[in-house]
Amino acid sequence: MSDKSFLDWPFFEPRHRALVAALEAWCAANLPVSHADVDAACKGLVAALGAGGWLLHTGAGAQERLDVRSLCLIRETLARHDALADFAFAMQGLGMGAVSLFGSEVQRAWLDQTRAGRAIAAFALTEPGAGSDVAATATTAVRVPDGWRLDGEKTWISNGGIADICVIFARSGEAPGAKGLSAFLMPCDVAGLQMAERLETIAPHPLARLRLDGVVLPAAALIGAPGQGFAIAMSVLDIFRPTVGAAALGMARAALAATQARVRARRIQGQPLATMQLVQGHLADMALKIDAAALLVYRAAWVKDQGAARITREAAMAKLYATEAAQEVIDMAVQLHGAEGVHKGHPVEALYREIRALRIYEGASDVQRLVIARALT
Ligand SMILES: Cc1cc2nc3c(=O)[nH]c(=O)nc-3n(C[C@H](O)[C@H](O)[C@H](O)COP(=O)(O)OP(=O)(O)OC[C@H]3O[C@@H](n4cnc5c(N)ncnc54)[C@H](O)[C@@H]3O)c2cc1C
Repeated sequence: MSDKSFLDWPFFEPRHRALVAALEAWCAANLPVSHADVDAACKGLVAALGAGGWLLHTGAGAQERLDVRSLCLIRETLARHDALADFAFAMQGLGMGAVSLFGSEVQRAWLDQTRAGRAIAAFALTEPGAGSDVAATATTAVRVPDGWRLDGEKTWISNGGIADICVIFARSGEAPGAKGLSAFLMPCDVAGLQMAERLETIAPHPLARLRLDGVVLPAAALIGAPGQGFAIAMSVLDIFRPTVGAAALGMARAALAATQARVRARRIQGQPLATMQLVQGHLADMALKIDAAALLVYRAAWVKDQGAARITREAAMAKLYATEAAQEVIDMAVQLHGAEGVHKGHPVEALYREIRALRIYEGASDVQRLVIARALT
């Protein structure tokens, strides 16, 4: 049983505690799912999360606001039970984040679909030549009568092969660098869009490289104003970076719980591993990192929910610390499991593979360090 004492921290309201209790019950009944076919699993998870009402939290209608504490609590809980369920949930939010924050009334109609689990969302920012360096975006958006023509390539796009709707960023050319980008809402059945390559990773998820060859979008596909794309992307990441930290936190809690059970049961030299002081020291370090990560994640979420326009520093600290700490906690969990820890199919072996990408996507750890340093210099 994972520690829930953090729910008594002043960051939370009674509705947050009720949310976690209800989601725990849902997870116990529905997770984990088989990862044998991740595309099918993700489609099923989006439908199930939609039917359960959980995806309502991934978007905000015109009179609503994303509740970042709820997003974080849901990601933490799902990630503790099944990393793929967290991925399916998170992408509905990240994919439609720009629409929730800046979308027109017509664009918001898509939120009804993604929040019900009837449409799968994606977020297409990264390119082969533009990962951390978003200002190097080369995909072009050129004005044509009644709209825009997009050409280029996007890569490492989560849900790339299975999404129905995607927010895509392209160079519309109002200024050089970051100030010349715009954001567009693109249905994935549009002519000229194709999956160029399926990408496999150490923890399989639906990921793809996409090609855009003369994709024509109507003028109404533009999100916000021309040239606002970079600011839109950063506003979305401000909200979703703490939630990546929350997912890492959930994985770390799962690793600690598995380790507690293991060291109580495993006997070495006639006594449980848990009675050995070196082991106790490692357990203490794991618990300490988890609590410190939780404080940073829920601090960032709370500040945003209090109405802060931007939480760039808090979000960077939460993502950086929680993902790095989770990697260390999970590595120690593998170590304390001995050979079982690297046994294919063991929960801590899966966590060891799942945690790695969280230190890279939505801004790699060193990029978060630069963001924090920028606020100090
Ligand atoms: C599983 C997974 C899912 C993803 N999903 C999506 C998605 O849905 N949509 C999307 O758009 N993208 C997605 N990405 C892409 C992800 O956001 C990028 O991989 C990430 O931004 C890093 O870009 P890059 O891989 O090009 O690495 P690079 O930009 O080449 O960076 C490599 C390394 O260089 C270092 N570095 C970079 N910049 C600096 C700097 N300024 N100073 C010092 N060091 C630096 C860091 O250590 C960094 O890790 C996903 C990636 C993965 C692995």
